[in-house]
Amino acid sequence: MFVYADNAATTAVSPKVVEAMLPYFTEVYGNPSSLYSVGQKAKEVLEESRERVAKVLGASPREIYFTSGGSEADNQAIISAARIGEKKGKKHIISTKFEHHAVLHTLQALEKEGFEIELLDVHSNGVVSAQQVADAIREDTALVTIMYANNEIGTIQPIAEIGAVCKERGVLFHTDAVQAVSHVHIDVKEQNIDMLSISAHKFHGPKGVGVLYARGGIVLTNVINGGAQERGKRAGTENLAGIVGLTVALEDVVAHIDETNEKLEKLQDRLIEGLSKIPYSELNGDRNLRVKSNVNFCFEGIEGESLLLLLDDKGVAVSSGSACTSGSLDPSHVLLAIGRPHEVAHGSLRVSLGEDATEEQVDYIIKSVSEVVEYLRGFSPFWGDLVSGKRPHVFAEHTVA
Ligand SMILES: *Cc1c(COP(=O)(O)O)cnc(C)c1O
Repeated sequence: MFVYADNAATTAVSPKVVEAMLPYFTEVYGNPSSLYSVGQKAKEVLEESRERVAKVLGASPREIYFTSGGSEADNQAIISAARIGEKKGKKHIISTKFEHHAVLHTLQALEKEGFEIELLDVHSNGVVSAQQVADAIREDTALVTIMYANNEIGTIQPIAEIGAVCKERGVLFHTDAVQAVSHVHIDVKEQNIDMLSISAHKFHGPKGVGVLYARGGIVLTNVINGGAQERGKRAGTENLAGIVGLTVALEDVVAHIDETNEKLEKLQDRLIEGLSKIPYSELNGDRNLRVKSNVNFCFEGIEGESLLLLLDDKGVAVSSGSACTSGSLDPSHVLLAIGRPHEVAHGSLRVSLGEDATEEQVDYIIKSVSEVVEYLRGFSPFWGDLVSGKRPHVFAEHTVA
């Protein structure tokens, strides 16, 4: 059996999306900036896509900027807010310890320039409260940037509440909604979101295309300089096929959110119940405040990389930590942020189910993970120390998730 259960890393482009994109490679291939008709047709499709994306997010078309993906959108949102802030002498930025690296590394670059970056602690259930944000906001706060759903543990943040706090205090609010937009209903106006990032390849669109929503009146700073595309704020000939793919994929995934969640909830319950039976294991992140596709576990006495490689041999594609951290030996910053000790943070597993997942696949994942964990523990010196009592266990033998 082959099970792809790493949909938080990327997704397959849906056939419907591929079909919608094809004419923009070979028929309507004009440059939207060209004045002849094949260019103007491209321009029309570009603007129609902008309207459709805006509608899905509850924004207006002038507030939608197409980018090369989630990372670029995060970079541009944060850099723009920093430039707006510094003109007013505001150089304090609030974020959290468990953001995506596209956010954290952009903040680190600003810190080197003299910005003060305050990363809020994340509660052990993987959630930051609006009260924490309210308490951290100061006179000189330029931006609050907090992700909507975490990419590793899937926990959903109280974004509308945080948005309300930021609005009341007059502070710009950005959210990285890359992992959330396909699982949670988002309306940027109702939820008081000033800026938001999404990426097509996380919801069955193509890679290399995303959206930055920026509320009207927010003056963006260019990250890519050149031509006057995207109202002068993002240079480069538009990736029209990609933009069409993003649009179709976004409409499709959002139209089916409730139906998908209902289906995935059952599979999520089944998977959590099954993996909880593995001794000395624990679910990461809140049992309920999480996207329905995500299940993330820590297993004592296991090395995450070996776990995922052996699962790959069994045809199960999952991840350990995030794709960006695998390859390095550092444990996931997300798991450390929720208070997991280093030795268990190393032994983590993220399963992110697709909409088409089945009970049989979930059962196969449970069976495969149980076998591999037992096998690896069999020759782990670390596990030996736990069994002999040389080291104390971190988790109880059995926890009820
Ligand atoms: C994948 C991801 C990104 C990066 O998006 P790209 O389009 O791959 O650049 C940013 N934030 C989160 C939360 C993600 O999951």
